[in-house]
Amino acid sequence: MESITEKMKVELESYSWNVSFARVIVASFLARLDPTVEEMEDVKTAVSEAVTNCVIHGYEGKGGIIEIRCEISGPTIRISIHDDGVGIADIQKAMEPMYTGKPEMNRSGMGFSFMEAFMDEVEVLSRVGEGTTVILRKTIGRTREEV
Ligand code: ATP
Ligand code: MG
Repeated sequence: MESITEKMKVELESYSWNVSFARVIVASFLARLDPTVEEMEDVKTAVSEAVTNCVIHGYEGKGGIIEIRCEISGPTIRISIHDDGVGIADIQKAMEPMYTGKPEMNRSGMGFSFMEAFMDEVEVLSRVGEGTTVILRKTIGRTREEV
C-alpha cells in the first residue's frame, strides 16, 4: 500500500448520544484501510470508551466540545480524542484496571483497559483544569499477514 497520509478532524458537542456518532465517523474513515470486522469493532469500542470518558469525566455531563482527529499513514490509524475538561491528576493511576474516579456512578474502571486491549498503543496527555487528550494507534491487516 502507498504510504500516503489522510487526515480529518471533527468537533462534537459533549452529549452521550454523540458517542455512537463518533464511532460511525471513525469507522467510516477507517474503512479505506479495509479492516476485518474484528479490527473495526476493536477501534469502535476504543473510540466509544474514550469519547464516553470525555462526556462523563472530562466535562462531567456539563457539555463542551470534543475534538476527534484521525490520521491514516500507511496501514496505521492514529486517532486523537480531546476535551477541554477537568483533566486527570494521576494518569498512571487512572489507567489502572478497575480504577474509577466515579465509583458512585457504578463505573467499572475498565475503559482504559479496553482501549489498551483493542488498540496497539494508548497514550494519555492531560493537565488538571486544562483537559485531556487520548491518542490511540492501531495497525490494520497485521493478522492477515501473519497467517
Ligand atoms: P468505565 O469506563 O469502565 O465505565 P471509568 O470511566 O471510571 O469506568 P476508565 O475509562 O478506565 O474508567 O477511566 C478511569 C478514570 O480516569 C475515570 O474514572 C476518570 O477519573 C479518569 N478519566 C478518564 N478519562 C478522563 C477524561 N477525559 N477527563 C477526566 N478524567 C478522565
Ligand atoms: Mg470510562
